Amino acid sequence: MFPTDEEAKKTITAICHRMYEKNYVVSNDGNVSLKVGETALWTTPTNVCKGDISEEMLVKVDLEGNILSGRLKPSSELKMHLRVYRDNRKAGAAVHAHPPIATAFACAGLELAEPILAEAILKMGKVPLAPYASLGTAKVAEAVAPFLADHNALLLANHGVLTWSEDAWQSYYLLESVEQYAKILLYTHLLGKRVPLSEEEIKFLRK
Ligand SMILES: [Zn+2]
Repeated sequence: MFPTDEEAKKTITAICHRMYEKNYVVSNDGNVSLKVGETALWTTPTNVCKGDISEEMLVKVDLEGNILSGRLKPSSELKMHLRVYRDNRKAGAAVHAHPPIATAFACAGLELAEPILAEAILKMGKVPLAPYASLGTAKVAEAVAPFLADHNALLLANHGVLTWSEDAWQSYYLLESVEQYAKILLYTHLLGKRVPLSEEEIKFLRK
């Protein structure tokens, strides 16, 4: 079941404020989208700080990116969100941000793949790394496409993080989980030691 227009605008605004408070985005970075029907979604406009965003700034578009409602221009990263909905029919919402530790992994060319954290395996499994693509171009959508059907979170090389799921808050919480996974991985690198879970335990968690 899809949210109403009013519910969608309220939810996107709340998620944007949370992302900014958590330092997952700075300046005008990041974008959020949420489907309100089979062929319509609300999304964030370009050039607005997510900490200052309000419901009347949001834009309603169709799955081709045509504006249905709103006075501002959607983000140039909307193409990536539209590709999520095209290639994963279950996806109802997508969140893109630049949380610093996960983004550091993306800038180091490292995926989040070591099976050391039970919660991360349960929620995401491996978080792969999509190759870099010039920002704002259709190439970004091409770069993420191979991962959309079988994952729910992705690092974007030299750029940031993309998460998606059936639900908007769930997509946002995946972003928190990706950043937490990256943080724990980094800490274990500082400790110089990591203990991976067994294949059997991983299978149990992924069931
Ligand atoms: Zn970005």
